[in-house]
Amino acid sequence: MKQRVVAIDGPAGAGKSSVAKRVAQALGYRYLDTGALYRALAWKAIKSGLRPQDASYIVDMTRETKVELQQHNGEQRVLVDGEDVTEAIRAPEVANLASPISAIPEVREILLDWQRDFARQGGTVAEGRDTGTVVFPNAGVKIFLTASLDERARRRHRELLERGINISLQQVKLDMEARDQRDSTRHIAPLRPAPDAVIIDTEHLSLDEVVEEVLKICRARFTNEAPPST
Ligand code: C5P
Repeated sequence: MKQRVVAIDGPAGAGKSSVAKRVAQALGYRYLDTGALYRALAWKAIKSGLRPQDASYIVDMTRETKVELQQHNGEQRVLVDGEDVTEAIRAPEVANLASPISAIPEVREILLDWQRDFARQGGTVAEGRDTGTVVFPNAGVKIFLTASLDERARRRHRELLERGINISLQQVKLDMEARDQRDSTRHIAPLRPAPDAVIIDTEHLSLDEVVEEVLKICRARFTNEAPPST
């Protein structure tokens, strides 16, 4: 039985967040930013003085941490143990630590339950690296967004500057390349398209065009098949 879930995966900067938010809004589904969960843990690990090699402490920390994703007027707020970290988790050093933390199997296991609980509460548009392959293998729609490293780095660089984070394009590209490499080669839940995912190259497409393409797929799947379960 297919789930009422739209799973959107792909590497950093492929446009997942912008597309997922718009698709969620159009369908009246909830938006699940799974990367924010790993970033939230990385933020707390940095604050606690933990390093990537402190895996067992990070696992303990994960068990004790309450992460909440709240939606306010179409905007997502991320809370860690009640503290609003929405802006703080976008810092490049947080993204860089999120990647090794996300390769710890026990951390992924804990977040797996968290993500599935979220989707049990209603229609969900989830974005991340493994939402179509591992978290929601029965998702009604699976999308994999891609674009070249240069284009993705340019987009992320623009986004960081808009948030007031001063970093060179070259540094963004280097960080992104390292993160892509780690995320795609890890043993557990590596970044790759699900066999039944629709791959969309966003290199030369506008946000509107990608959203329209994804919604077309959603409408076809969700209206032509038996009503999916939640
Ligand atoms: O998507 P975002 O850049 O916020 O993700 C931050 C990091 O969290 C990724 O580089 C990846 O290592 C990890 N992640 C993951 N699985 C997901 C989402 C994110 O491993 N489903």
